[in-house]
Amino acid sequence: MEGDLGEGSQFSARKYPKQEQEPASEEIFEIAPNILRLQLPISMPGLGHVNTYCIISNDRVVLVDPGLPSKASYKALRSRLKQAGLSLEKVRGVVVTHSHPDHYGGVRRLIEDSGAQMIAQRDFGRLVMAPGVHECGADLDTVHDHNHQHREQFRGIENAFYVENFDRETWNGPVWLLPRPWNSKPLPPPISKAKIAAMKVGWRTYLKRILPPIPDMFLEDGQELELAGGGMLWRAIHTPGHTLDHLCLYQPDLGLLISGDHVLPTITPHIPGVGGGPDSLAGFLGSLTKLESLGEVTKVLPAHGHPFDDLESRISTIVAHHDSRIVKIRKALDESGPMRVEDVSKVLFRPQRLGPMADSEAFAHLEHMRLAGQVSHRVVNGEFVYELVG
Ligand SMILES: [Zn+2]
Ligand SMILES: [Zn+2]
Repeated sequence: MEGDLGEGSQFSARKYPKQEQEPASEEIFEIAPNILRLQLPISMPGLGHVNTYCIISNDRVVLVDPGLPSKASYKALRSRLKQAGLSLEKVRGVVVTHSHPDHYGGVRRLIEDSGAQMIAQRDFGRLVMAPGVHECGADLDTVHDHNHQHREQFRGIENAFYVENFDRETWNGPVWLLPRPWNSKPLPPPISKAKIAAMKVGWRTYLKRILPPIPDMFLEDGQELELAGGGMLWRAIHTPGHTLDHLCLYQPDLGLLISGDHVLPTITPHIPGVGGGPDSLAGFLGSLTKLESLGEVTKVLPAHGHPFDDLESRISTIVAHHDSRIVKIRKALDESGPMRVEDVSKVLFRPQRLGPMADSEAFAHLEHMRLAGQVSHRVVNGEFVYELVG
């Protein structure tokens, strides 16, 4: 499937070499009777749209992944729903596949206007520190509890805890308190103050809009539910890796798999070394294997790009991609000797992709190799260096 623009593409492969980059189409695509795909605009590195799926019955509509928190995205959602003949009042539920803003962002406005319930995986919004150096020297379980406590407080008093405890200067707050595990330095702010100022919204409004909402209903792995009703059951498949709380939805009768960001048609999702647990790559690969043991999947419905049908071959390509990265890292360590995370990042990513996300992903690969006994690490000048074992 690599490079194949797939079903529904109307853009040139030269301009958008990856279908996930294509701008949002205004067209409404029918996947199956009463299942629609809408596209909402987003502008993020490598992504031009997000797919929102509508599951419809006579009196209810359930949406999956309603896009970014911006007014423009919400306006596009409302106009697409209108175009599809669906009234906002009919939207009774909104499922979010994982805690990234291009997926949960539209939830707040949608809930305010429709009264819909938000549904997500049990761990929605949870971050777990990877092992390594940590400023308070806490072990993994302690850090996990620490994050979880914040979450419990958050749940009780809506956004107040996050907003009140945010440090405007450093951006330190429960959401972004994780330092880089390989050198304890804090991660840079996710957005500059100048950009927030340019949006002409107050700090509190901005935070309330961007922070993950609190789900009304949590799904467990394997749980089946009707979503929109009409007797059509959807099964929740917990697929940690891209995030700890990633969820896919499987409809066995039609063989449909709503795959979120877990399996995308031509790009691979970010694998976080920060906030994704001790071995997020193992989690991700395990979650791919899990999909192979589902029943028949005739169509994969990704959050970005076009639906596709050959899940098995797409999974093989993704697994091969991560295998080849491990080969690259081994070769670089063999040739150069001990390397820092940032050095390994340069081996894996092109210069324009370098930065905190690339480093986080390089760290995820290195920790995966370390836990598999392929490399070891030691601290040199307050920072991890990795080397081949044996
Ligand atoms: Zn994502
Ligand atoms: Zn996404």
